[in-house]
Amino acid sequence: MHPVLAALLLLAMCAGRMSSNPFTLRLAAVLDDPMECSRGERLAITLAKEGINRVSNLSVMGKVEVDIFELLRDSEYETGDTMCQIISKGVLAVLGPSASPASDTIISNICGEKENYSIPISPGTTTPRHMADGKTAVTHSIMLKASELGMLSIYYTYIFTTMEFSLLQLDDFLVKRWVNILGFSVLNHSHPYFPDLLLSLNRSWQENCDHAPFTGVPLSPALLFDAMHVVVSAVRELNRSQSVGVTQLTCQSPKIWEHGTSLMNYLRMVELEGLTGHIEFNSKGHRFNYALRVIQSSSEGLRQVGEWHSEHGLSMESDINLLIMAGTIFNTTLTITTILENPYVMLRSEHQALEGNERYEGFCVDMLRELAELLHFNYRLRLVADGVYGVPSANGTWTGMVGELISRKADLAVAGLTITSEREKVIDFSKPFMTLGISIMYTAHMTRRPGYWSFLDPFSPGVWLFMLLAYLIVSCVLFLVARLTPYEWCSTEPCLRGRCKLVLNQYTLGNSLWFPVGGFMQQGSAITPHALSTRCLSAVWWFFTLIIVSSYTANLAAFLTVHRMEVPIESVDDLADQTTIEYGTMQGGSTMTFFQNSQYQTYQRMWNFMHAKQTSVFVKSTEEGIDRVLKSNYAYLLESTMNEYYRQRNCNLTQIGGVLDTKGYGIGMPLGSVYRDEIDLAVLKLQEDNRLEILKRKWWRGDKCSKEDDRRAQGLGMENIGGVFVVLLSGLLLAVFMAGLEFVWVQQHSPRSELSMCTEMLRALHGILLCEDSMALHGFRGPGILLQTHTSLPEEHGRTKTATCTLSNGMVCGMDNSSSGPMESQSHRLAQEAILGPRGCTHVRICPECRGYKGLRVQTLLPRKHSPDLREENV
Ligand code: GLU
Repeated sequence: MHPVLAALLLLAMCAGRMSSNPFTLRLAAVLDDPMECSRGERLAITLAKEGINRVSNLSVMGKVEVDIFELLRDSEYETGDTMCQIISKGVLAVLGPSASPASDTIISNICGEKENYSIPISPGTTTPRHMADGKTAVTHSIMLKASELGMLSIYYTYIFTTMEFSLLQLDDFLVKRWVNILGFSVLNHSHPYFPDLLLSLNRSWQENCDHAPFTGVPLSPALLFDAMHVVVSAVRELNRSQSVGVTQLTCQSPKIWEHGTSLMNYLRMVELEGLTGHIEFNSKGHRFNYALRVIQSSSEGLRQVGEWHSEHGLSMESDINLLIMAGTIFNTTLTITTILENPYVMLRSEHQALEGNERYEGFCVDMLRELAELLHFNYRLRLVADGVYGVPSANGTWTGMVGELISRKADLAVAGLTITSEREKVIDFSKPFMTLGISIMYTAHMTRRPGYWSFLDPFSPGVWLFMLLAYLIVSCVLFLVARLTPYEWCSTEPCLRGRCKLVLNQYTLGNSLWFPVGGFMQQGSAITPHALSTRCLSAVWWFFTLIIVSSYTANLAAFLTVHRMEVPIESVDDLADQTTIEYGTMQGGSTMTFFQNSQYQTYQRMWNFMHAKQTSVFVKSTEEGIDRVLKSNYAYLLESTMNEYYRQRNCNLTQIGGVLDTKGYGIGMPLGSVYRDEIDLAVLKLQEDNRLEILKRKWWRGDKCSKEDDRRAQGLGMENIGGVFVVLLSGLLLAVFMAGLEFVWVQQHSPRSELSMCTEMLRALHGILLCEDSMALHGFRGPGILLQTHTSLPEEHGRTKTATCTLSNGMVCGMDNSSSGPMESQSHRLAQEAILGPRGCTHVRICPECRGYKGLRVQTLLPRKHSPDLREENV
């Protein structure tokens, strides 16, 4: 604003004849009150006139009279005519007009010709004179338009150059908004006439202008009021030195008013406190030594934040910026930009019948409601105009929600808006309210895989392999344990007393291999374990069998009914390495920017692929992307949260691999937003109260595709049933341990050997492992082979056998078949086997009681031809 409030009034001293003492002080006013219905200028004149006449000494100076002329148009010709009428009446001064520059000029010229002096009424010299009155209405129009454009917000500062800012009625625009408005005021609120003037102006407006909105009181009435006082006080001073008379003049005659110059000099000397502050003129007739108050409007009202003085310049309060920006979200109405995206912001099914915010629902809508309740603000949801999240365009401007925040069209962006470093440079983000990463969505073709080998599917190949290994180990351990434990060696002829009995072990190698098979197939076998160790081992094996068979059965059923997921790619690298499957991202989103700006080779390669196919691989919305995934050979790169949402609702969709990065969603705000701290705190509060988690579950939950199906469709691996193998292994170790104990136990209760227990056991184990041992005959390890061991029982059964083994201690092992029947025949055969034992892994032994004797001898009565090599001394 120009610093000089140049003028107070246009005063044209027009000559006339001074009436006799006391004379009437006649003035003329040319009014162009822009707010004509309020008649503010008329009221000011009346108020001033009454005040002056009331206090004046009428005997010295007569009453003040004012002739009022209304200017209908700002026309030089019409004003010229009016002026000619005015000067012919003989007036001391002409006041006004205030907002008609052409008329103002012609009045000044006519008064100047008549040797008079003019002081413009409107403020400023270069700032337009018409500013004063036109301003209030114009100000209102400006604010109305700004409101329509959504420009009444904290981010805009309005500076009004009007000088009656304090009188503007801006309440409508300030209600529930934080708008920065600065203005100036020249009015002196402490003037005794100020309340009266204001009251009468307001009343007049209410009486006459009820059809129009009240936009505030203009400055011109106050200026007219002051102008009258200035003229009257100058005339009074002039009248003291010379008798002022009024001369009637005409436009045609060159006659001038003789007191004009003197009055001008007196006018320059006037000094008073008027409604428009301190009034004083310089030598050129311009006002000086006056001050303008700088006023800021806020929701709490007007407050003075500085002062501009015509001589001393501007002085502001130091914290003016803080004052302007220190807004609070409380009770404000915010414009929220958002975008339709499941499940963040969605249109309700009955949205056509609804209005405003009620049309929307979703995670973000709920979150916003909770934020508004916490912080006590109102909001208006608005969908982003271009329907994108926001990326920088070629000319440097931003599109989408980010663009709207930058241009201050919105106060907040509440959506699944990803926080990125690039965006953080141009807008502010709240603390993240959700974390996520980029993921790949692809369609999983669910296929049934019938095949010859489908029965193998319930277990992974690893499990099958381990089962085979387990079987072999169990068989071997069983063989070993059964041989080690003495309790598995059973007498074949329990009734033979006084004889050296032969004992039999049922766990031959073949039986040891067969016994677990019978158990595994749930069929059992005729072999029954006798020793604690073999029973323990059998029990563990059966337990293992029970679990494996049950798991197999259960999983097999699932495999026969559930389809298998077939996906040709398993990771982002697979995707990048092929070109058959097309892939792309959402247009104008952060995922696209991620690939575009990535420095990582794989992602760069992917961006090149996508960019080369530009039009075909980028989609406008997530829904379009999902549709494409389902209908064509297309993989869609989207954020994991959305991926999860859609997968819960369509079982044909699957996520390939993990997430490519980690980031979060935040609430977007214009840079330097005053709401940021409050929103941050509120978001953290919602997080701590688990409100966000509850909302996530509410909007993401979908029971269409359970994860169970996925898991069941995969064969059970070692991670599922590994425990049962551990149990089996423990059982095996226990069995071996117990067999050892049994061995020791029996050794201690047998005739003592000269060897130590450990040596005995080591020898026994050594023999078992190398299959050299019959253990039956200690010290009976001659190399001689007495008989062929494969003498078959049926072969011998029909014949009369006479073979009897007589041991050197006199005990007889085996008898004549004819005298003792089949039992004796078997004994006989066993005796033979026992004798032949050292040759291989025999399952026949001599009973432990016989073992202690040295020099055991066997006599055989078999004919020599049957056993030519059998020699007693060998035995
Ligand atoms: N949330 C993303 C953004 O803020 C949009 C989705 C996407 O790009 O995958 O731009």
